[in-house]
Amino acid sequence: MKVHEYQAKELLKGSGVAVPAGIVATTPEQAGEAYESLGGGLIVIKAQVHAGGRGKGVAVDPQGDRALALEIASGRKPRPKGTAGGVQLVKSKAEAAAAAASLLGKTLVTYQTGIEGSRVNKVLVTVGHEIARELYLGLAVDRGLQCPVLMASTEGGVEIETVAHEHPEKIHREPIDVGLGLGDFQARKISKALGLSGKAAKNGEVLFKALTRFFLDQDASLAEINPLIVTDKDEVLALDCKLTFDDNAMFRHPDIAAMLDPAEEDAAELRAGKSGLSFVSLDGNIGCLVNGAGLAMSTMDLIQYHGGTPANFLDVGGGANKDQVLEAFRILLGDPKVKGVLVNIFGGIMKCDTIASALLAAYDEIDFRVPLVVRLEGTNVEAGKKLLSESGRKIITADGLTDAAKKIVAAVKGAA
Ligand code: GDP
Ligand code: MG
Repeated sequence: MKVHEYQAKELLKGSGVAVPAGIVATTPEQAGEAYESLGGGLIVIKAQVHAGGRGKGVAVDPQGDRALALEIASGRKPRPKGTAGGVQLVKSKAEAAAAAASLLGKTLVTYQTGIEGSRVNKVLVTVGHEIARELYLGLAVDRGLQCPVLMASTEGGVEIETVAHEHPEKIHREPIDVGLGLGDFQARKISKALGLSGKAAKNGEVLFKALTRFFLDQDASLAEINPLIVTDKDEVLALDCKLTFDDNAMFRHPDIAAMLDPAEEDAAELRAGKSGLSFVSLDGNIGCLVNGAGLAMSTMDLIQYHGGTPANFLDVGGGANKDQVLEAFRILLGDPKVKGVLVNIFGGIMKCDTIASALLAAYDEIDFRVPLVVRLEGTNVEAGKKLLSESGRKIITADGLTDAAKKIVAAVKGAA
């Protein structure tokens, strides 16, 4: 689960990580007032969307300039002068309101959002700082090392992917012991790698340790501070922050779970989550309803192998009931790009005849506008298949995974 920059900064501030002061605004008037509450001077107005590259991104009208959006999304060209970027420096109340007006209700397109961009519903009005140095700090789980790793680089403010690709030696890595957190000696090593000394090194080390403690305690899976800045007064601040949390741990952190912004999530994925279904939207046109993640993956592979493309990953779980099957069908068929559905169920915990009855009930409640192929295997499979074939509904039954994949691909091609 991702949170917005303003939420990430609230969380980090509460954990002892230094961040610039800021206020969230949803209207230009609020942004103007926030400008004054923050004491004026140099203030930054930042679009709040779950994507990076906002500084180089462009805010367009929702039905706006597609050609410009395409160029920005592909990262081929810099934003033309006179267009609104996602991060704007302002020096008066009127400028603050105007910057907010240029972002709110618009679509921000960055190299990370794709051409469709993300709608801006909120802006963060935050105190601007003179930047002496821009650094990079990130925490992620290293699956190879089987532990979190703190990454630090002097190359802040630019895409870390580029640094990792072109100058991997410029990224310093410290593996984290999850029981101990970041050791003092490790914090000092990072300071050294970043060229910090004196007061800046002290401030930096407090921040590195606080960020690591936060990451471990709150079950984060990614924390990225780009840029981490050093000011002319040797303060070390998180100027930007992206946080991602482990979905499976969110039950332990209701305060963070409450920060979920539905506007930033895939509507079908949110809906599926509420019914206990694991669902991931994909680009193809064959909807899949499968029990078990491994079987769901193999089903997608076989569809692809036989010339089709899956529209989703959907695992209804081992003990799927009728209501879940119904909801799963509604989600699949609610997607206009779905041109056929493949049901692939292994009756282990649930018997095949029970599944077949649930399928028939779901079929009758939903307007099935596309071909449906069903492959059942497992306990009571014969009884289940008999129910389907004698039902009089337009259901294509399949024997085995390959047969099922071939049949759905052919049915979708035939319908098209
Ligand atoms: P991102 O583009 O989505 O990663 O957004 P950032 O928060 O990283 O901001 C983009 C860039 O805006 C930064 O790399 C800075 O160069 C600039 N910027 C943001 N805040 C300030 C600030 O307080 N002072 C100055 N001088 N520049 C800032
Ligand atoms: Mg950034």
